[in-house]
Formats: sequence, structure tokens, C-alpha cells
Amino acid sequence: MTKKTNERNVLPIKKGDTVTVLAGKDKGKEGKVLRTVPETERVVVEKVNMMKKAMRPTQANPQGGISTIEAPLAVSNVMLVCPHCKKPTRAARRRTDEGKKIRVCKKCGKDID
Ligand SMILES: [Zn+2]
Repeated sequence: MTKKTNERNVLPIKKGDTVTVLAGKDKGKEGKVLRTVPETERVVVEKVNMMKKAMRPTQANPQGGISTIEAPLAVSNVMLVCPHCKKPTRAARRRTDEGKKIRVCKKCGKDID
């Protein structure tokens, strides 16, 4: 099954954002977004949704073994934490004078981008 890539598929969360987890085993945790996966609407959050993964032996790690890595979680299960007021918020969007779309905190009204 192939999913057509929608170029307008822009996540409300970006790499480097701080988010709080709304659901799942890490509910209530906060972390920094390491990576976003717009194709599947998932994000990878530092120290959240840790999964054990069997690693094949490599030159750098000849023994192989079990490694713990962050698994992606659905973007709907996290909420952006505003860097200004530190509250979880659904970002609003506004257009700047230059025509650029930026995110705005709905709680304190400050620009996030
Ligand atoms: Zn705010």
C-alpha cells in the first residue's frame, strides 16, 4: 500500500520543540522533539516511548545485543509546550507581514517560531 505524500502535510510540532505526552505509558512526561515523521504524523521525543531493540553485531559493536531507543509516537498524543509561558498549548497560526506562517501560543499570545 502506497500512501501519497502530501506536501502540505505540516506537523504542528517541530524538531527542537518541547512537548508533553498526553497518552500512553509515558503520559505526563515532557521531552524535546528529536525528529518528526510527517509521512506518518509521528514524532520522536527524547527519553519518551523507550523501546528495547535487538541490535545486529556491527564493527563498532561486535557483540550486538539489546539497545534502548526512542520509538516514534503519534503527534496527536503529544502537546506543544510553549517556550514562553511553559504551558501545554495548541498553537494558533498567524501570518507575518512578510507572508510567513508562524505559530502563536494560544495561552500567552507570544510567537513560538
Ligand atoms: Zn505561551
